[in-house]
Amino acid sequence: MIHDLSPLVSPHLGVWPGDTVAEREVLAEVAEGNNYTLSTLRGTVHLGTHIDAPSHVLAEGAAIHEVPLDAYIGPCQVLHLDVGHGQVITPDDLPGPIVADRVLLGTGTFPDPNDWNTDFASCGAELIDFLAAAGVVLVGIDTPSVDLFHSKPLPSHHAAFGHGMAVLEGLVLSGVPDGVYELVALPLKLDGFDASPVRAILRTTP
Ligand SMILES: [Zn+2]
Repeated sequence: MIHDLSPLVSPHLGVWPGDTVAEREVLAEVAEGNNYTLSTLRGTVHLGTHIDAPSHVLAEGAAIHEVPLDAYIGPCQVLHLDVGHGQVITPDDLPGPIVADRVLLGTGTFPDPNDWNTDFASCGAELIDFLAAAGVVLVGIDTPSVDLFHSKPLPSHHAAFGHGMAVLEGLVLSGVPDGVYELVALPLKLDGFDASPVRAILRTTP
């Protein structure tokens, strides 16, 4: 069974204020008498479910085409948390032990990808350090960022990249029960970019 963790990419999909919404420019259409349909996609690389590259926050950080891919495929634990809007998640908020080296956090504080809210919960550096010590190589969250909306120092991004941990944001985890799955969420090989949208899925191992 496959759980699809990516929201629909459309002009309605919310993006960070000031960032570029998704647009489809149709260049040719079979319905208009052309022998093919052809369109151009325009939008931020932080569109919906996406992977941040270290270069998103670090001048000397790896760009998305340079990140090792191992973190984006493999055993992955889903944990839904009982946290409030605007809350910084700490290790004490985890409902149980970490049992896989990829972790997806469900906060329920960014419920509608088409209706952007700024008061989502997010990680703190303490949580990232805790996960790294538990051997976690990828952290994912069902909000637009592993840091709070108004954060300028972006401590969780820096902590994660400092540990060599991959960051997956903008997940849709509603309806996905807690448990261990196989994650597949590969970034596009975009030369020099700071992120990539991904179709993130969880598979139950047969
Ligand atoms: Zn980010």
